[in-house]
Amino acid sequence: MVETLKMEINHVKQSRINEVDFSNIPFGKIFTDHMFMADFRKGEWGNFRITPYGYMPISPATPAIHYGQAIFEGMKAYRGTHGEALVFRPLDNWSRLNRSAERLCMPAVPEDVFMESLSTLIDLDREWIPDTKGASLYIRPFLFSADEYIGIKPSEDFTFMIILCPVGAYYSTPVKVRIETHYTRAAQGGTGYAKAGGNYAGAIYPAKLAQNAGYHQLLWTDGKNHEYIEESGTMNVMFVIDNVLVTPELSDSILAGITRDSVLQMASAWGMKTEERKVSVKEIIDGIESGRVTEAFGAGTAATIAPIELIGYNGRDYYLTPVEKREFSNKVLTELEGIKRGLKPDPFGWVVKM
Ligand SMILES: *Cc1c(COP(=O)(O)O)cnc(C)c1O
Repeated sequence: MVETLKMEINHVKQSRINEVDFSNIPFGKIFTDHMFMADFRKGEWGNFRITPYGYMPISPATPAIHYGQAIFEGMKAYRGTHGEALVFRPLDNWSRLNRSAERLCMPAVPEDVFMESLSTLIDLDREWIPDTKGASLYIRPFLFSADEYIGIKPSEDFTFMIILCPVGAYYSTPVKVRIETHYTRAAQGGTGYAKAGGNYAGAIYPAKLAQNAGYHQLLWTDGKNHEYIEESGTMNVMFVIDNVLVTPELSDSILAGITRDSVLQMASAWGMKTEERKVSVKEIIDGIESGRVTEAFGAGTAATIAPIELIGYNGRDYYLTPVEKREFSNKVLTELEGIKRGLKPDPFGWVVKM
C-alpha cells in the first residue's frame, strides 16, 4: 500500500515481545509494542502518529469518560503462510465505524486514515501476529470525544486510536443462554446499531445476573414486549429452522455484524435458503420442542461461530441438537475460518493482505 499520510513514528527502544508466552495468551490483556493516534481539531484530522503502547494523559473533563461519547470496532488479522497479515473485511469495519460515529455526533474517519494507519501499525508490529494454531491478532480501533468540557453537546475535538492484542485460539465451548425478559440492551430509536461503549456498560449487569443463574450469556429480546429475539450476548444470533438459515432482520436495535453478513452470503452461495426477518421467542421455543429448530449459534468476530447448547426460558432449559450433529454451523465455521486464515480460496474477496 502506498503511504500517503504524514505520519510520525516513534519506535519502542526495546520490544516486549519476548516477555509474552504465545502458547498461553489471555484475551485482551496483552498489547503489542505500538499504538496509533490521530487528533481531530478545528474540523480536521491530523497529528497522525505511532508511539510506543502506553498510558496517555487525558483531561478529567473528557466527555468520553462522563457521557460515554466513545465508539469502537473489533476485527482480526491472521498470519499468512508468507508472514503477511491477512485482515478480514477491514473496509466493512471502517464503514461501520463511521455509521456509529454519525449516531454519536462524531466526525467520520476517512478511509485512507483508517486503512493506512492500520497497515502501518500492523506492519510495525507484524512479529506479534501469533503463528500458533488458531491464534490471531485482535485489532481494536476506537474513537472518542476529547473536549475539555463537561457540558452536554456535540464535541469539537476527538481522538482516533488503534491498539492491537495477540489472542490465542478461541475454543468456543457450546454456550448456555437465557432469554432476557426484563432488561433491554437496545431500544427502538436508541444506539443499539452503533458499536457505542455505553451499550456494553448497560449490558454487563443483566449478563451477570444470567451468569449467577448458571448461563453464559443472554438472548436479548426487543425492548418493547420482549417478544422477538434480537442478539446473543455481544454477537448476532442465527438459527437453522426447517433447513432455512434464519436471523433477526437488522434494525436500529441490532448491530450489523460482519460475521452475520458473511454467514448469510456463504449460505446463499451454497444454495441454502436464508431469511432475515423477525424471530419470535415463541417460534424458537416451539421449534425446539417440535424439532424444527435444529441449530442455534452466535456469530461474531471473537468466536466466529459460538454454538448455543441450550436456551433457558421461564425457568425451563430447552436443549438443541448436540453440536457434533450440526451440519450447517460446523461447515460454515470450517469454511469461514479457512478463508480468514488464507487456507481456502476466498471467492468473495474478503481478505485484505497487509
Ligand atoms: C460487534 C458486535 C457484533 C458482531 O459483529 P462482527 O462484525 O461480526 O464482529 C454483534 N453484536 C454486537 C452487539 C456487537 O457489538
